[in-house]
Amino acid sequence: MRPLEYVTPHSLAEALERLAGSDPSETVVWGGGTALGPLLRRGLVRPRVLLGLERVAGLQDLSLAEDGLRVGALVRLADLSRSPVVRGSLPLLAEAAGRVGNVRVRNAATLGGHLAHADPAQDLPPVLLALDAQVRLESVRGTRTLPLERFLVGPLQTARADDELLTEVWVPAAAFGRRTAYVRFTPRSSQDYPTVGVAASLRVDADGVCREARVAVGGAAPTALRVPAAEAALVGGRLTRERCRDAAAQVESAVDPWDDTRGSARYKRAMARVWTERVLEDLASEA
Ligand SMILES: Cc1cc2nc3c(=O)[nH]c(=O)nc-3n(C[C@H](O)[C@H](O)[C@H](O)COP(=O)(O)OP(=O)(O)OC[C@H]3O[C@@H](n4cnc5c(N)ncnc54)[C@H](O)[C@@H]3O)c2cc1C
Repeated sequence: MRPLEYVTPHSLAEALERLAGSDPSETVVWGGGTALGPLLRRGLVRPRVLLGLERVAGLQDLSLAEDGLRVGALVRLADLSRSPVVRGSLPLLAEAAGRVGNVRVRNAATLGGHLAHADPAQDLPPVLLALDAQVRLESVRGTRTLPLERFLVGPLQTARADDELLTEVWVPAAAFGRRTAYVRFTPRSSQDYPTVGVAASLRVDADGVCREARVAVGGAAPTALRVPAAEAALVGGRLTRERCRDAAAQVESAVDPWDDTRGSARYKRAMARVWTERVLEDLASEA
């Protein structure tokens, strides 16, 4: 059996140095290990070094400022769901984080690991897309910030370079105060990944006219995706049933699902439409 070393750098600089000088198949970042652990046990990844981030100062911070909410990559999903700061500023994010998997998974899984894992059926990517989230990537070469939609590039694939760490997720203040909703459709078990997840955030003015819209879907394409055509169908008018239906039809056209144990491609496509329509109608009826 190959020996496996677990290293825990004390600073971000040390962690980045360690990554910079490593072969990516030999050194793998460990967040909460809930995705990586099963892969290791099955021998699907065979690193020599696990780079644990738990001692790196700053990665567990969560702060609300005028420009938005910053969540360190090592914040656990359970903490995200319970945080009064998150519940106050972005209740949708807290609520969705509290519905991922089960309590054991949420107590270990980190937001950085969740996004870096990039499973297309995960719950938080569509939610964070609907909230205009950006991710910060750091390496010894420097820092860059990417909108989440550019970070997610395919099933289990991201725009992260081998020497980069995802260090922070930022949600701009512009996303605060919108009408928001997320529905995760799980016909098998509430602890399962959703067959389809739909998130929406809308800004509606005092006359009931939709001024801003974000509609994002998970589980129904190689990555979670925003659907600009659905958003365009909503903006500029009142949220009538017809508009909600038009937007949902746009989602049905935009998704690109595949057959798996959670449903056929045809079924997922139909469910993406059905749940989008319901989410939007619920938001339309909010006072
Ligand atoms: C039983 C079970 C049920 C689940 N149910 C659901 C569900 O209902 N909904 C759902 O959305 N998800 C579900 N999941 C998946 C879960 O959300 C992910 O496993 C978890 O979020 C991954 O986070 P982690 O911190 O444990 O990542 P890890 O397992 O530590 O890492 C995952 C990947 O990200 C990389 N990585 C980790 N941190 C960073 C970083 N900071 N920078 C760069 N790369 C990094 C790792 O190298 C690895 O490639 C479930 C998982 C289990 C085991």
